[in-house]
Amino acid sequence: MTSKNGCLICGSELTYLDEEAEVNCYFCNKTFKTKTICDEGHYVCDSCHSKEGIDAIISYCLESKSKDPIFILNEIMENPFIYMHGPEHHVMVGAALLTAYANAGGDINLEKALKDMKIRGGQYPGGSCGFWGTCGAAVSLGMFLSIITQSTPLSTESWGIINRGTVRALDEIGKLGGPRCCKRNSFTAALTGADYVLENFGVKMDIPDQVTCRFFRNNRQCLGKRCPYFPNKN
Ligand SMILES: [Zn+2]
Ligand SMILES: [Zn+2]
Repeated sequence: MTSKNGCLICGSELTYLDEEAEVNCYFCNKTFKTKTICDEGHYVCDSCHSKEGIDAIISYCLESKSKDPIFILNEIMENPFIYMHGPEHHVMVGAALLTAYANAGGDINLEKALKDMKIRGGQYPGGSCGFWGTCGAAVSLGMFLSIITQSTPLSTESWGIINRGTVRALDEIGKLGGPRCCKRNSFTAALTGADYVLENFGVKMDIPDQVTCRFFRNNRQCLGKRCPYFPNKN
């Protein structure tokens, strides 16, 4: 695993195919249908891509005392098993919010909630932002809201609250434009989530005055000064 962006095997750029191809995962050798391979033809499945990273997310969150989801995200993103982009972010956003929410006085069983987040976020596929129009960082906020309200498809008031939370994050993420950046989308979903929780549940997480990205050098498609988190914008 030499590269923190692009292909995990050789570091080449990822290619998005017009049609799905049948390929074997480089690590587990299982067969998958995908539109995403590297220029050299390597494929790593979502599960192999994110397994170690997701375990790192959960163990970090169980120890954290922080009430600041952005601080938690930044600390987790420094872990070598968290890549520049990847489906581990679909667990990370909700896990950071659950942790900050619990530390800020939110009434949840954090350990149980994180287990649930790991299962739900782990099911959400990579690339959904571009293929389905629903970025996984925003959906991760929806999963977080569902967990803290114990919502199900039969819920009434909370059913509305959780769906409206996801769309608010999607709107903020969409307004910034692409190409995708899992860091930018995660920061945006977490900031939206912290505001939304204060509005709807009265729990106040800590939020920094300015969010500054430390990872832009690893992103070949960084928006640069058009990104709200790019350092020294002024
Ligand atoms: Zn490769
Ligand atoms: Zn695999």
